[in-house]
Amino acid sequence: MRTAVFALGFAAGMVFLAAILWSTGSFLPSQALAAAAPEAVRFTQPAPMPPPAQRPDAAPAVHPPAPPAVSPALGMPLAGVDPHTLQSNFSQMRNGHAHEALDIMAARGTEVLAVAQGNVVKLFTSKPGGLTVYQFDDSRSWCYYYAHLDHYAADLKEGMLLRKGDVLGYVGSTGDASPDAPHLHFAVFELGPEKHWWQGTAVDPLPLLIRGTMF
Ligand SMILES: [Zn+2]
Repeated sequence: MRTAVFALGFAAGMVFLAAILWSTGSFLPSQALAAAAPEAVRFTQPAPMPPPAQRPDAAPAVHPPAPPAVSPALGMPLAGVDPHTLQSNFSQMRNGHAHEALDIMAARGTEVLAVAQGNVVKLFTSKPGGLTVYQFDDSRSWCYYYAHLDHYAADLKEGMLLRKGDVLGYVGSTGDASPDAPHLHFAVFELGPEKHWWQGTAVDPLPLLIRGTMF
């Protein structure tokens, strides 16, 4: 009898407690709360902003800057010349403009060698440069320019592939070079996106030739 009364009182107490919890909203199973929480978080977080659309009229009219090309390490265009013995004359002023090339004095008729592998793009005769060769490298990022040549190698043709060290011509004094001071005028241009053989940004060849002795 005492057990029954106790059980009845216990049951009544549990019902009362349950009623209180239910009315205060605390009687939700803990799993339900956990499931609801991330949902609530998801709703309160702002959606990631899409990148602003490129307006065509806002696009710049110039080409985007090209990724910087790694400067090449070049072979010497004249055999037996140590580039460490040469002085840069890239920044010297010549007839009112920067030289932007390297002059290497040599005897007339000295073989001129391709400094890297790549195609002959243009054989050109100009008033200042005389007999010249324009060669692209294999990546078509760089143009190599050899000027004041006495004559070309016998089989040299536009479009042909030169390998590093191939003879392309011979030292001379054509163009505006002094006849009693034959030399090779050698220039390196970084090409623009148009890949024009006559258009580029000149860089000093000497550090590239010195680099070529390290590889
Ligand atoms: Zn020069």
